[in-house]
Amino acid sequence: MGLIVLDVQKLNAFYGPAQALFEVTLQVKAGELVVLQGLNGAGKSTLLKALMGLEVGTEGRIHYQVNPTESGQVDIQRWETHRRAHVGLGYVPEDRRLFAGLTVRENLRVAAGQDARAQEARALDLFPALKTKLKRPATQMSGGEQQMLAIARTLMTGPRVLLLDEPCEGIAPVLVESIRDALLALKRDGLALLVAEQNRLFASRADRVLLLVAGKVRDS
Ligand code: ATP
Repeated sequence: MGLIVLDVQKLNAFYGPAQALFEVTLQVKAGELVVLQGLNGAGKSTLLKALMGLEVGTEGRIHYQVNPTESGQVDIQRWETHRRAHVGLGYVPEDRRLFAGLTVRENLRVAAGQDARAQEARALDLFPALKTKLKRPATQMSGGEQQMLAIARTLMTGPRVLLLDEPCEGIAPVLVESIRDALLALKRDGLALLVAEQNRLFASRADRVLLLVAGKVRDS
């Protein structure tokens, strides 16, 4: 495993006056799969949102290795969400937020960076089930296929960190395995993966499992 890509120190998060995360400290390295577990309401979604700068107010430090060839890290804690995405943080929310009126291919192309064709080819290699469905409306696919598309769309931006919120909730076991295997391939490519997921198929392949209890990290 490589460099620490994401180094979170004493992160607090708030919904208005209500505190949801308490001094969360964690690191994710390049090529590492970290699985986040915890009961409903423990703060898993909040942590991923806080890392993306969405919906919650935060205090603390989120150091990110902006450039893989340089040693310096920057604190992105106050950055706007789009700027975090631009430097390589990829996020797939629990509800996936696909573009309902668009086809599978259009959903992918909307997110495309400069190297759209190569990125699309790589994303489709990871999720071959999408290859034959590129012209279908995104909403006519199964839940598992929609999840694959949501991850593939995020990959089109060329992220170095992937933050996934319950990618396998309510998905057929065979598709859970496909998604897990795609994530393991991305890990081998050197992506840093932080995945909120209760499914044991994930935890058993994780480099580390972090347990959140009432907004605090407890090593499991
Ligand atoms: P789940 O598995 O149900 O998604 P979770 O571990 O992701 O649970 P969060 O959704 O992060 O938990 O919730 C953490 C805490 O923050 C809970 O107490 C929840 O009630 C609160 N919370 C979440 N979203 C909001 C919101 N938009 N406004 C106020 N409080 C919120």
